[in-house]
Amino acid sequence: MVNPFHLQAGQPLQETLKYDKAETVGPQRAELLCGGDIVFHPITYSSQYEQVVPPYDFSHMFVRMGPHLARADFATITFETVCDPDMPYAGYPVFNSPTEAIPAMKKVGFGALATATNHALDGAGLSSHDKTLRAMDQAGVDHFGSYLPDKDRTPYIKDIQGIKVAFLNYAEMYNGNEVALADQDLARLSPLKIDLIRQDITAARQAGADLVAVFPHWGIEYQTLPSPEQRELAREMVAAGADLVIGSHPHVIAPAEWIDQDGRRAYVAYSLGNAMSNQRAAFLGTIDTEIGCFLRLQLEKDKEGSRVKEASLLPSTVYINTKTGGKKYEAGLIQDFLVAEDLTDQDKAHMTNLKNRAEEILGQALPA
Ligand SMILES: [Zn+2]
Repeated sequence: MVNPFHLQAGQPLQETLKYDKAETVGPQRAELLCGGDIVFHPITYSSQYEQVVPPYDFSHMFVRMGPHLARADFATITFETVCDPDMPYAGYPVFNSPTEAIPAMKKVGFGALATATNHALDGAGLSSHDKTLRAMDQAGVDHFGSYLPDKDRTPYIKDIQGIKVAFLNYAEMYNGNEVALADQDLARLSPLKIDLIRQDITAARQAGADLVAVFPHWGIEYQTLPSPEQRELAREMVAAGADLVIGSHPHVIAPAEWIDQDGRRAYVAYSLGNAMSNQRAAFLGTIDTEIGCFLRLQLEKDKEGSRVKEASLLPSTVYINTKTGGKKYEAGLIQDFLVAEDLTDQDKAHMTNLKNRAEEILGQALPA
């Protein structure tokens, strides 16, 4: 090892220090796990279809993801509902879910919840949205994407094993409820506009972010390929400085791609699909909505900078467990269900179908 305090004549200080650091420190590494959307259909946490009746139980939803959440240094998921205890609880089309959902997500291992979705103004609109974010603050769960009126629009940055990652989230629409909003209220919900995204990415970099992850809630429902407009917008986000673009909303998964930009490599996953929902083939006529993806990312930081080293889309589904009485909606990776001891041969045959279909969708060529 070179001792920088004992330089030899003619040896440049800068080079010596650089060499020394590389030799002794090595890169910092972090693993990030991102889920798609939680669509809060009542049956997934309440005993009845369409009606929300107590007791509510969210604890089983991600229990099978436990080992994957535990090995990750940080995990996020999209929280596609509001929690307003002063309004009737409801499922589709205007969601309002019990506040118990929030600490349950924290307990299972999601460190931050994305809140800019087309359902962010469900319940009674903006007041329900604000109650939801305050409940998250109260439960000590981080959130990103939308903001409370008394908070500045500051990018959410999380230090994950020494790598500072900015998480930004935007929604393409708010189901028409945004029309009545004043501009300053709409701005705190984060509409999917490239100017706003550029401004936030710049603010995130200035605040010290090593990497920037943008979560657009976008696209056309049930389409397993992004539109040319989405691919264009993804490129604009990457050009603006995004290292990761992680989409959701269409209820189905879509292929991903790497984009090279000025010597950087950015990863774009167009849609992670449903992480949790009751969108079943039995009544939708397609197994596509039963397939989601968890995105596992290996991040790295060294003296040269920070980067997304590896990205893996892990196909997932929701298994309805009836073995302990009632119905428990359990999200998990298809690869795990295929070797799970408690699944029947028939369950596993279905899992094989889901796996094959997931591979088919992810293997599609992207449109020009
Ligand atoms: Zn959505």
